[in-house]
Formats: sequence, structure tokens, C-alpha cells
Amino acid sequence: MAVIDLRSDTVTKPTPAMYEAMVAAELGDDVLGDDPTVLRLQAAIAAVLGKADALFVPSGTMANQLALGAQTRPGQQVILEADAHIYHYEAGAPGALWGLTTLLLAGDGGALTWRQIEAALPPADVHFPEPGLVCLENTHNRAGGRILPQTQVVEIGAGARARGLRLHLDGARLWNAHVATGTPLAELCAPADTVSVCFSKGLGAPVGSCLAGDRETIDRARRLRKRLGGGMRQSGLLAAACLHGVAHHLRRLADDHAHARRLAGELANPLLAVNHPVETNIVVVDVAPPGSAAGLLAHLAAHRILALSFGRGRVRLIPNLGVGATDIPAVSAALNSYRGDAA
Ligand SMILES: *Cc1c(COP(=O)(O)O)cnc(C)c1O
Repeated sequence: MAVIDLRSDTVTKPTPAMYEAMVAAELGDDVLGDDPTVLRLQAAIAAVLGKADALFVPSGTMANQLALGAQTRPGQQVILEADAHIYHYEAGAPGALWGLTTLLLAGDGGALTWRQIEAALPPADVHFPEPGLVCLENTHNRAGGRILPQTQVVEIGAGARARGLRLHLDGARLWNAHVATGTPLAELCAPADTVSVCFSKGLGAPVGSCLAGDRETIDRARRLRKRLGGGMRQSGLLAAACLHGVAHHLRRLADDHAHARRLAGELANPLLAVNHPVETNIVVVDVAPPGSAAGLLAHLAAHRILALSFGRGRVRLIPNLGVGATDIPAVSAALNSYRGDAA
């Protein structure tokens, strides 16, 4: 019996058709600017996100950090939602790489309002750090794949612009927000100056992200990418996988969303609860005593099901390209047969 891997949507392997697209890719040297497949991906992503230019990078973390580096000066403050990926999961990069301080604001389901940001901005006085950049995350990972209310994003975009702040959107899973709501990607991105998107999550590519924005910012990001060692050569091999993912695996994210909703809906175990609306592909299960996150993970593993611990007493499950509709009943049965940990 095969393993059902729900640890992340990053665990997917290239499909045979994706491998074929990679093998067929026309290649060049992207540091010299002549890899045609990378150029094609960057142009396609800029167009679909409604930005002037885009840059192909190895990871979502690098895309986010280039956005910070290209739009701030050392000593400035970056405003983040308290559960942001940029704060929690990027190894302290805002301080370590760019000399930035962070202002963390607790959102409602990961969502901030402009009123909340404006009230927290430091006064224009030499004692205080100068705010430089606001970052939002859509969908929001630690909030359980929640979709940001677009009216709030629009308000934050307008407010930030009026105050001379830049706005970055961490859109690692923006594809999921787009498919779940039907809102065009360019509309989701319009309030932001820069947007990062990942191809290595639900879209199923092995490696790759893009940062999109205006030409000047992307030019600056290209130099910073080189500085960090992210200039890649025959990277069209990877860009071909990303193009294939966008062309063939975007619509099917709706399947992942349906599977996530089904897992939450079929949960019937007094020890387990899903305490957030399942809007996209992430299910966060809270485990009550006498159960534990480690105990639930071990129980699932005994049923050849993999998930991830997501903080104390929490387990995260993410349906993905490698998980079929026929796998879901086995996962539900395993979740519902957990009886807690032996004393
Ligand atoms: C996965 C993810 C990233 C980027 O992660 P990498 O592993 O560096 O590609 C950025 N932001 C969010 C919200 C993510 O979920």
C-alpha cells in the first residue's frame, strides 16, 4: 500500500508529462539573460499577475527576501502579520540580510486592516524606526490557508501608497485563493507593488518561485539575487516544469480544496477538531488530551499516512497532486480511529 503524503503541497514529484516538458525545454544561460524558457516563464507570470516584470528564483523564501531587500533600506521597519511566513519560517532573514526591524500585528484569521496598521505606525520622529514596507500573505499558511478579504487588501494598498509605504504580497499560495474565489490573479495582485508566487506547492513543480513587480524593483531584485547566489544557468529546465504546472495543474487545485473540505467534514472524533474555516487546501487539526500531535502523527504513520506537526497540539494536513479522491476515505478513517496516547 502506497504512502499518502499530506505533509505539504511541496512533496509532489513531477508527473510524466511535466518531465517531458522539462526534457523538451529550450535552454540558454539565464545569468547571461538568454535562457528562452526562463524568459517565457517570467513574461507569462508578469502578464498573468498584471505586473511589468517578473524574476525566476529558487524558492519562495528568496522571492520574499528579494522583495524586502529591493524595497527597503537598513534600519527601516517591515510591518508583518504576527503569524507571517516571512517572520516565522525564513530563518530571521529580514534582520540578518537587510538590517530590518519587524513590527508584528495580530490579524483576524491572518488578515490585517489598514486602520490597524495605521494606528500602529511609528510617529515621524527621529526616535522611531522608519516604516518602509507592509507585507501580506494570501493564502495565509498558519491561519490554515485562509483567503484575505480583498476589500481589506485594497484598503491597505491605498493606505500604504498614501503614506509612501510599499506593499508586498507573499502569494506562495495565491493560486489557491484565485481558484477558490474566481477572482482574477491580476485583481488579487493589483494593490501590491510586488508579489511572490510558488510553483513548487500545489502546482507540482519540483523547484521555483517568481517575484513580480515594476521594472525598477525587479532590476534591483535581479542584482540582489546574484548577490545571494540565486543566479542560475540552464534554469529553463526548471522553468519548463513551472510553465507546465501553471498550464495543467492550476484548475485542479479545486480538487485539493474539495479533499480538504471533505477531510474536515468527515471528522468525527471527540479528540480532534478543525477550528478554522477550510477555504483552500490546508486542514489544521487541534488534538485534545489524552491525545497529542506526536501521538496522532504516529497513529497516522501506522496507517501509512504522513502529516506534519504544526505547533503544540496541532497537526497540518495538505491534500495535493499526489493524493487522489480514493485516498480520502482512508485518511478520514485513520483520523476517526485515533483514541489518544497510552499513559
Ligand atoms: C512555502 C511558503 C513560502 C516559501 O517557501 P519556500 O520553501 O522557501 O519556497 C513563502 N510563504 C508562504 C506563505 C509559504 O507557505
